Order: sequence, then C-alpha cells, then structure tokens
Amino acid sequence: MSDGVRASAGKGRMWAIGLAAVALASCGSPNAASRHSDFAVRDVSVVIHSDAPFTRATDFPGRVESTLEAALEYWGGNWDALAGRSITFESAQTVECGSHSGAFGCFDGDIRLTTRDPAFTFSCVEQTVLVHEVGHAVIGDASHRDRRWMDFHALTSRLDGRRGYSVQGDETCQLFPSVWQHPPDL
Ligand SMILES: [Zn+2]
Repeated sequence: MSDGVRASAGKGRMWAIGLAAVALASCGSPNAASRHSDFAVRDVSVVIHSDAPFTRATDFPGRVESTLEAALEYWGGNWDALAGRSITFESAQTVECGSHSGAFGCFDGDIRLTTRDPAFTFSCVEQTVLVHEVGHAVIGDASHRDRRWMDFHALTSRLDGRRGYSVQGDETCQLFPSVWQHPPDL
C-alpha cells in the first residue's frame, strides 16, 4: 500500500541521500513509484513523501486547494499556471533544486518542498514554502526581483490561525511570513 511506502521513505532520511533513499525504498516497481500521486487538486497531482501529521489529516486535500487558491490570487495567477504539474511534500530537511541542494522548496516545472522547518515539523501546509513556489510558477522571477517576495501580508492575514496538527495533538497554525520571503538575489 502507498501508506507503507510513504512512511518508510519519510522517516529519518538525510537530505544528502534523499533521492537515492526514495528510489531504494520504492524498489520493486520503480516506474509506478517514480510518479505515483496520492491525490489531485484540480489538475495538480499531489505526492506525499512525508509523515508530518498535517499530510495525514483528512482536511489535507482541501487545505492544499485553499492555500493554492489564495497563493494564485496573491500572485495574480490562475489554475492554468499549475495545470499538469505536481507538488511533492518531503519530510527531508531540504530538497534538491538544480545545482542548489539546500533548498526548502523548489520549482522546476514541478514543486517539491520540505514539511520541516530546521527547528520543528510544520503543523500545516500553510506554513510550508508552498505559497513561495507558486509565485515562481506564476511569475517566474528566479532572482526574486518582484517586491511581493518580501511582502506576503495579505496572504498571512488570509491564511493565519487555521487548525494545525502535531504528534501531540491539534494546535493553531501560526504563520511566519519570513519563511516565505526572499530578498532579491544579487
Ligand atoms: Zn524562490
């Protein structure tokens, strides 16, 4: 079952061997494992390689959809910007992104992001860098020149205070715009 694959692929995996570990954990049916999706939101496939409690909550698909909706609105885009793309949630601390191996999130046509902050596991999808990566899907701007990369106030007030999940139980999902922000690259 996919739940077993997800759990074993997620636990204790180091970022440096992230992709190799996924391939090994999934061996036996490499083709199916390389692109299986756990659910779809509109035309977006969502893949869970994480055991973060929020990814197992029954409201997760709806929360992904409403977060994407808000992010698309913030960036002035619509669902066409995400059609046919995938979003993968990883429990590893960082994801590989081109030549950059220490990223919390990546958009390279598809979106990959970690479900962990360096200090703790995120308690909700809204806390991840998803809304940042949606920005790249809508406006590109790899060098972060647009002033909206340092703003996000409208999104914060719209998404803050929803239900969060931890292994200890439910909590409030407090948002930190600094997780989403990025100063212009030099
Ligand atoms: Zn970025």
